[in-house]
Amino acid sequence: MRKLPLKLKQLKILSRRTLLGETEEKEKEKLARGFEGELLFDRLLDESVRALDVFHLKDYRFKIDAGTEYLKVAGGLGEVQIDNVLVAGDRLYTFEVKNFGFDLVYGSKSWFFTGGREYKDLSMQVNRQRTSLDSLIREGGFKSEITPHLVFVNPRQTIYNMPNLENLMIPSNTHRRLAAICTSNHYDHSTLIDYLDSRRLVRSIYDLPANVSFGELRPGVFCYRCDSVAELVRVNRHLYHCKFCKTAYKTLNIVECLIDELRTLNDTWVITPAMISTLSGGAVSKAVVNKYRRENKISF
Ligand SMILES: [Zn+2]
Repeated sequence: MRKLPLKLKQLKILSRRTLLGETEEKEKEKLARGFEGELLFDRLLDESVRALDVFHLKDYRFKIDAGTEYLKVAGGLGEVQIDNVLVAGDRLYTFEVKNFGFDLVYGSKSWFFTGGREYKDLSMQVNRQRTSLDSLIREGGFKSEITPHLVFVNPRQTIYNMPNLENLMIPSNTHRRLAAICTSNHYDHSTLIDYLDSRRLVRSIYDLPANVSFGELRPGVFCYRCDSVAELVRVNRHLYHCKFCKTAYKTLNIVECLIDELRTLNDTWVITPAMISTLSGGAVSKAVVNKYRRENKISF
């Protein structure tokens, strides 16, 4: 499973518990669209590799050591994030997924909006991913040619001037290209995968606590299965439900959800039963939280 990016998760929580500004709303929509695109590509890739002997690493993040070529170019950026790394047919591939809602004009030096304004050099972004991954695997004593891909997943988007490059994917050529790429490995690549896993950054340097204090949070219990920002409806003392997606929540689910919200917003907060009860807006009492804790049903 691909994990929801921390920033998006924080914004989803804050959209229920604070009033988001326009910039934050836009950021939330952008991140949500990006994540949706990644899930869409995951489904296509999963389908293409089903029953094959391949390795697929999702949202692969690593630190690049100082002194590499990448650092000199990027000027201080020490973290690389790659949406997908695939080892198939004994070759290494990367896929950077873009779920853009706007059209673009391809350019070999830069990409442009249809109005003529410069967007950015997307090809450079994927080439940097390739060179960084290449130095990483070399550091571990491995060597492999890496083919980077830029994947546009939104079928409503048009790329004008698009050259027939092997590593540019759009919805109409994705299936065919994936079918050509996705073949079983003949050799055992588990040592490479173990090495990549050992170099994986669990936490991004960009994952920061939300800029909000506990006292600013609107109390209440909310549904995170759907986009509803309305409070859950109380059925009885032990049961709540979301009137939009109809998900039922037992008190224990609610407490787990509240703990997750607090951890997501700021993992330096020391969580107490009183905080959980306050955040629930009275839906769960301190005594109930303490009881679950004694029964080892929750921990914080
Ligand atoms: Zn819901």
